[in-house]
Amino acid sequence: MKGLKIAVLVKQVTDTRETVEATVGADGTIDRNALPAICNPDDLNALEQALRIKDRIDGSQVILISMGPQRAEEVLRDGIYRGADEGILLSDRRFAGADTMATSYALAMAAQKISPDLILAGRQSIDGDTAHVGPQTAQWLGWPQVTYAEQVTPCEDGRIEIRRISDDETEVVRTTLPAVVTVGGSGAAECRPCNVRRILDYKKQPVTVWTADDLGGDAARYGLGGSPTQVVKSRTIVAEHKDTEWVASDESALSEFVARLVESHIVE
Ligand code: FAD
Repeated sequence: MKGLKIAVLVKQVTDTRETVEATVGADGTIDRNALPAICNPDDLNALEQALRIKDRIDGSQVILISMGPQRAEEVLRDGIYRGADEGILLSDRRFAGADTMATSYALAMAAQKISPDLILAGRQSIDGDTAHVGPQTAQWLGWPQVTYAEQVTPCEDGRIEIRRISDDETEVVRTTLPAVVTVGGSGAAECRPCNVRRILDYKKQPVTVWTADDLGGDAARYGLGGSPTQVVKSRTIVAEHKDTEWVASDESALSEFVARLVESHIVE
Protein backbone atom coordinates (compact mmCIF):
# COMPACT_ATOMS: atom_id res chain seq x y z
CA MET A 1 0.00 0.00 0.00
CA LYS A 2 1.30 3.47 -0.83
CA GLY A 3 2.02 5.91 1.98
CA LEU A 4 -1.03 7.74 3.33
CA LYS A 5 -1.27 11.47 3.93
CA ILE A 6 -3.15 11.77 7.21
CA ALA A 7 -4.49 15.02 8.66
CA VAL A 8 -5.23 14.99 12.39
CA LEU A 9 -7.52 17.68 13.81
CA VAL A 10 -6.32 18.84 17.22
CA LYS A 11 -7.97 21.34 19.54
CA GLN A 12 -6.39 23.15 22.47
CA VAL A 13 -8.70 23.00 25.48
CA THR A 14 -8.52 24.03 29.12
CA ASP A 15 -8.01 21.02 31.33
CA THR A 16 -11.34 21.05 33.14
CA ARG A 17 -10.34 17.78 34.85
CA GLU A 18 -7.93 19.92 36.90
CA THR A 19 -10.78 22.02 38.29
CA VAL A 20 -10.16 22.44 42.02
CA GLU A 21 -11.72 24.77 44.57
CA ALA A 22 -9.17 27.53 43.91
CA THR A 23 -10.25 27.73 40.24
CA VAL A 24 -14.00 28.00 40.92
CA GLY A 25 -15.37 31.46 41.73
CA ALA A 26 -18.12 32.20 44.26
CA ASP A 27 -20.70 32.23 41.44
CA GLY A 28 -19.56 28.78 40.33
CA THR A 29 -17.74 29.98 37.19
CA ILE A 30 -14.39 28.43 36.34
CA ASP A 31 -11.33 30.66 35.99
CA ARG A 32 -10.02 29.19 32.73
CA ASN A 33 -6.78 31.17 32.93
CA ALA A 34 -5.97 29.33 36.17
CA LEU A 35 -6.25 25.98 34.40
CA PRO A 36 -3.60 24.42 32.16
CA ALA A 37 -4.19 24.40 28.37
CA ILE A 38 -3.78 20.91 26.92
CA CYS A 39 -4.40 19.00 23.74
CA ASN A 40 -7.94 17.58 23.80
CA PRO A 41 -7.50 13.99 25.09
CA ASP A 42 -9.42 12.25 22.28
CA ASP A 43 -7.24 14.07 19.73
CA LEU A 44 -4.18 12.37 21.20
CA ASN A 45 -5.93 9.01 20.66
CA ALA A 46 -6.51 10.06 17.03
CA LEU A 47 -2.85 11.07 16.68
CA GLU A 48 -1.69 7.69 17.99
CA GLN A 49 -3.75 5.91 15.30
CA ALA A 50 -2.18 8.16 12.65
CA LEU A 51 1.33 7.49 13.97
CA ARG A 52 0.70 3.72 13.98
CA ILE A 53 -0.28 3.90 10.30
CA LYS A 54 2.85 5.96 9.63
CA ASP A 55 4.97 3.33 11.44
CA ARG A 56 3.38 0.61 9.35
CA ILE A 57 3.35 2.13 5.85
CA ASP A 58 6.50 3.76 4.52
CA GLY A 59 6.03 7.17 2.98
CA SER A 60 3.06 8.10 5.18
CA GLN A 61 2.82 11.62 6.50
CA VAL A 62 0.98 13.04 9.53
CA ILE A 63 -0.12 16.68 9.39
CA LEU A 64 -1.79 18.32 12.38
CA ILE A 65 -4.40 21.05 11.86
CA SER A 66 -5.73 23.27 14.61
CA MET A 67 -7.92 26.35 14.56
CA GLY A 68 -7.42 28.77 17.40
CA PRO A 69 -5.41 31.71 18.70
CA GLN A 70 -1.61 31.82 18.38
CA ARG A 71 -1.31 29.94 21.69
CA ALA A 72 -2.83 26.85 20.06
CA GLU A 73 0.58 26.45 18.41
CA GLU A 74 1.51 24.62 21.64
CA VAL A 75 -0.67 21.60 20.78
CA LEU A 76 0.83 21.43 17.29
CA ARG A 77 4.33 21.47 18.71
CA ASP A 78 3.38 18.82 21.28
CA GLY A 79 2.05 16.60 18.46
CA ILE A 80 5.25 17.12 16.44
CA TYR A 81 7.31 16.07 19.48
CA ARG A 82 5.20 12.89 19.61
CA GLY A 83 5.89 12.06 15.96
CA ALA A 84 3.74 14.19 13.59
CA ASP A 85 5.56 15.67 10.60
CA GLU A 86 4.00 19.10 10.43
CA GLY A 87 1.55 21.46 12.11
CA ILE A 88 -0.79 23.99 10.52
CA LEU A 89 -2.51 26.62 12.65
CA LEU A 90 -5.63 28.34 11.29
CA SER A 91 -5.53 31.69 13.01
CA ASP A 92 -7.25 34.88 11.96
CA ARG A 93 -9.57 37.38 13.65
CA ARG A 94 -12.10 36.46 10.96
CA PHE A 95 -12.36 32.95 12.47
CA ALA A 96 -13.39 34.38 15.89
CA GLY A 97 -16.82 33.51 17.27
CA ALA A 98 -17.02 30.34 15.18
CA ASP A 99 -19.58 27.73 16.21
CA THR A 100 -19.06 24.10 15.25
CA MET A 101 -20.34 24.69 11.71
CA ALA A 102 -17.93 27.56 10.99
CA THR A 103 -15.09 25.69 12.72
CA SER A 104 -15.63 22.59 10.62
CA TYR A 105 -15.90 24.70 7.44
CA ALA A 106 -12.47 26.25 8.08
CA LEU A 107 -10.99 22.82 8.90
CA ALA A 108 -12.53 21.33 5.73
CA MET A 109 -11.11 24.17 3.60
CA ALA A 110 -7.66 23.57 5.13
CA ALA A 111 -8.00 19.84 4.44
CA GLN A 112 -8.94 20.55 0.84
CA LYS A 113 -5.73 22.53 0.48
CA ILE A 114 -3.53 19.64 1.62
CA SER A 115 -5.62 16.81 0.06
CA PRO A 116 -5.18 14.13 2.73
CA ASP A 117 -6.20 10.50 2.15
CA LEU A 118 -7.58 10.33 5.67
CA ILE A 119 -8.69 12.82 8.33
CA LEU A 120 -8.63 11.67 11.94
CA ALA A 121 -10.30 13.79 14.62
CA GLY A 122 -11.06 13.32 18.28
CA ARG A 123 -14.52 11.95 19.06
CA GLN A 124 -15.40 15.04 21.09
CA SER A 125 -13.77 17.85 23.00
CA ILE A 126 -13.78 18.10 26.80
CA ASP A 127 -14.93 21.73 26.70
CA GLY A 128 -17.45 22.25 23.86
CA ASP A 129 -18.31 18.54 23.99
CA THR A 130 -20.62 18.53 20.98
CA ALA A 131 -18.89 15.82 18.88
CA HIS A 132 -20.06 17.85 15.85
CA VAL A 133 -16.79 18.91 14.28
CA GLY A 134 -15.54 15.60 12.82
CA PRO A 135 -18.87 14.63 11.20
CA GLN A 136 -19.45 18.19 9.94
CA THR A 137 -15.98 18.27 8.37
CA ALA A 138 -16.85 15.05 6.51
CA GLN A 139 -20.13 16.58 5.40
CA TRP A 140 -18.48 19.73 3.98
CA LEU A 141 -16.03 17.54 2.04
CA GLY A 142 -18.68 15.02 0.95
CA TRP A 143 -16.54 12.16 2.35
CA PRO A 144 -17.66 9.04 4.25
CA GLN A 145 -17.39 9.31 8.02
CA VAL A 146 -16.97 6.74 10.77
CA THR A 147 -17.40 7.86 14.38
CA TYR A 148 -16.51 6.40 17.78
CA ALA A 149 -13.47 4.57 16.44
CA GLU A 150 -10.99 2.85 18.73
CA GLN A 151 -8.66 1.47 16.10
CA VAL A 152 -7.96 2.31 12.46
CA THR A 153 -6.10 -0.20 10.30
CA PRO A 154 -5.22 0.14 6.60
CA CYS A 155 -6.24 -2.82 4.39
CA GLU A 156 -4.32 -4.24 1.42
CA ASP A 157 -7.12 -3.21 -0.97
CA GLY A 158 -6.66 0.52 -0.22
CA ARG A 159 -9.59 0.77 2.18
CA ILE A 160 -9.35 1.17 5.97
CA GLU A 161 -10.85 -1.04 8.63
CA ILE A 162 -12.23 0.59 11.75
CA ARG A 163 -13.08 -0.98 15.09
CA ARG A 164 -15.77 1.22 16.60
CA ILE A 165 -17.91 1.13 19.70
CA SER A 166 -21.66 1.42 19.61
CA ASP A 167 -24.01 1.34 22.61
CA ASP A 168 -23.12 -2.06 23.95
CA GLU A 169 -21.06 -3.77 21.29
CA THR A 170 -18.00 -3.44 19.09
CA GLU A 171 -18.40 -3.16 15.32
CA VAL A 172 -15.79 -3.59 12.61
CA VAL A 173 -16.48 -1.57 9.46
CA ARG A 174 -14.54 -0.77 6.29
CA THR A 175 -14.59 2.34 4.17
CA THR A 176 -12.95 3.66 1.06
CA LEU A 177 -10.64 6.66 1.23
CA PRO A 178 -10.70 9.61 1.51
CA ALA A 179 -12.69 9.48 4.73
CA VAL A 180 -13.06 11.15 8.10
CA VAL A 181 -12.81 9.04 11.26
CA THR A 182 -13.36 10.28 14.81
CA VAL A 183 -11.42 8.44 17.52
CA GLY A 184 -11.75 8.19 21.28
CA GLY A 185 -13.03 6.23 24.24
CA SER A 186 -11.48 3.98 26.82
CA GLY A 187 -10.61 1.31 24.24
CA ALA A 188 -8.53 3.67 22.07
CA ALA A 189 -4.76 3.36 22.55
CA GLU A 190 -3.04 6.10 24.52
CA CYS A 191 -0.75 8.37 22.57
CA ARG A 192 2.99 7.79 22.79
CA PRO A 193 4.91 10.39 24.80
CA CYS A 194 7.00 13.25 23.41
CA ASN A 195 10.35 12.07 22.10
CA VAL A 196 13.39 13.83 23.57
CA ARG A 197 15.29 13.81 20.26
CA ARG A 198 12.31 15.39 18.49
CA ILE A 199 11.95 18.05 21.20
CA LEU A 200 15.57 19.10 20.56
CA ASP A 201 15.21 18.93 16.77
CA TYR A 202 11.87 20.77 16.40
CA LYS A 203 11.83 23.19 19.34
CA LYS A 204 12.57 26.20 17.18
CA GLN A 205 10.88 25.10 13.95
CA PRO A 206 8.01 27.53 13.22
CA VAL A 207 4.55 26.10 12.57
CA THR A 208 2.69 27.17 9.43
CA VAL A 209 -0.08 29.72 10.01
CA TRP A 210 -2.96 30.03 7.53
CA THR A 211 -5.46 32.89 7.50
CA ALA A 212 -8.92 33.04 5.89
CA ASP A 213 -7.27 34.45 2.75
CA ASP A 214 -4.95 31.43 2.59
CA LEU A 215 -7.94 29.07 2.82
CA GLY A 216 -10.08 30.81 0.20
CA GLY A 217 -13.60 29.36 0.14
CA ASP A 218 -16.71 31.35 1.02
CA ALA A 219 -15.60 34.16 3.38
CA ALA A 220 -19.18 34.48 4.72
CA ARG A 221 -18.92 30.99 6.21
CA TYR A 222 -16.03 31.85 8.58
CA GLY A 223 -16.28 33.05 12.18
CA LEU A 224 -19.33 34.57 13.82
CA GLY A 225 -20.94 35.48 10.47
CA GLY A 226 -20.87 31.82 9.37
CA SER A 227 -22.25 30.56 12.70
CA PRO A 228 -25.99 29.85 12.77
CA THR A 229 -25.85 28.85 16.47
CA GLN A 230 -27.25 31.53 18.77
CA VAL A 231 -26.52 31.24 22.48
CA VAL A 232 -29.80 32.50 23.94
CA LYS A 233 -28.94 32.09 27.58
CA SER A 234 -26.30 30.40 29.68
CA ARG A 235 -26.57 29.35 33.29
CA THR A 236 -24.06 28.01 35.78
CA ILE A 237 -25.30 25.05 37.74
CA VAL A 238 -23.87 24.99 41.25
CA ALA A 239 -24.65 21.90 43.31
CA GLU A 240 -25.70 23.08 46.75
CA HIS A 241 -25.68 21.22 50.02
CA LYS A 242 -29.46 20.99 50.02
CA ASP A 243 -29.18 18.75 46.96
CA THR A 244 -27.47 16.10 49.08
CA GLU A 245 -29.60 13.54 50.80
CA TRP A 246 -28.42 10.70 52.99
CA VAL A 247 -30.31 7.45 52.51
CA ALA A 248 -30.08 4.49 54.84
CA SER A 249 -28.53 1.46 53.18
CA ASP A 250 -31.37 -0.95 53.96
CA GLU A 251 -33.62 -2.47 51.29
CA SER A 252 -36.81 -0.55 52.03
CA ALA A 253 -35.15 2.91 52.33
CA LEU A 254 -33.35 2.36 49.01
CA SER A 255 -36.53 1.14 47.26
CA GLU A 256 -38.42 4.18 48.52
CA PHE A 257 -35.59 6.48 47.33
CA VAL A 258 -35.50 4.92 43.84
CA ALA A 259 -39.31 5.16 43.62
CA ARG A 260 -39.08 8.90 44.35
CA LEU A 261 -36.39 9.37 41.67
CA VAL A 262 -38.58 7.56 39.12
CA GLU A 263 -41.62 9.58 40.11
CA SER A 264 -39.76 12.86 39.66
CA HIS A 265 -38.38 11.64 36.26
CA ILE A 266 -34.74 11.86 37.41
CA VAL A 267 -34.27 8.21 36.42
CA GLU A 268 -36.42 5.92 34.32
P1 FAD B 1 -16.20 18.70 19.17
O1 FAD B 1 -17.07 18.64 17.98
O2 FAD B 1 -16.67 18.03 20.43
O3 FAD B 1 -14.75 18.18 18.78
C1 FAD B 1 -14.55 16.96 18.05
C2 FAD B 1 -13.18 17.00 17.44
O4 FAD B 1 -13.13 17.97 16.40
C3 FAD B 1 -12.06 17.37 18.40
O5 FAD B 1 -11.70 16.29 19.20
C4 FAD B 1 -10.98 17.79 17.40
O6 FAD B 1 -10.39 16.70 16.80
C5 FAD B 1 -11.82 18.53 16.34
N1 FAD B 1 -11.88 19.97 16.63
C6 FAD B 1 -12.83 20.66 17.28
N2 FAD B 1 -12.52 21.98 17.31
C7 FAD B 1 -11.34 22.10 16.69
C8 FAD B 1 -10.47 23.20 16.40
N3 FAD B 1 -10.76 24.43 16.77
N4 FAD B 1 -9.33 22.95 15.72
C9 FAD B 1 -9.02 21.68 15.32
N5 FAD B 1 -9.77 20.62 15.57
C10 FAD B 1 -10.91 20.82 16.23
N6 FAD B 1 -14.94 29.20 20.73
C11 FAD B 1 -13.92 30.07 20.81
O7 FAD B 1 -12.80 29.65 21.11
N7 FAD B 1 -14.08 31.41 20.55
C12 FAD B 1 -15.30 31.93 20.20
O8 FAD B 1 -15.41 33.13 19.99
C13 FAD B 1 -16.39 31.03 20.12
N8 FAD B 1 -17.60 31.48 19.78
C14 FAD B 1 -18.64 30.63 19.70
C15 FAD B 1 -19.88 31.13 19.32
C16 FAD B 1 -20.96 30.28 19.27
C17 FAD B 1 -22.31 30.82 18.88
C18 FAD B 1 -20.79 28.91 19.61
C19 FAD B 1 -21.97 27.97 19.61
C20 FAD B 1 -19.57 28.41 19.95
C21 FAD B 1 -18.47 29.26 20.01
N9 FAD B 1 -17.21 28.79 20.35
C22 FAD B 1 -16.17 29.66 20.40
C23 FAD B 1 -16.96 27.37 20.61
C24 FAD B 1 -16.58 26.68 19.30
O9 FAD B 1 -17.67 26.60 18.44
C25 FAD B 1 -16.13 25.26 19.57
O10 FAD B 1 -15.01 25.33 20.41
C26 FAD B 1 -15.71 24.54 18.31
O11 FAD B 1 -16.61 24.69 17.28
C27 FAD B 1 -15.48 23.07 18.57
O12 FAD B 1 -16.65 22.45 19.04
P2 FAD B 1 -16.53 21.38 20.18
O13 FAD B 1 -15.59 21.90 21.21
O14 FAD B 1 -17.88 20.97 20.60
O15 FAD B 1 -15.77 20.20 19.45
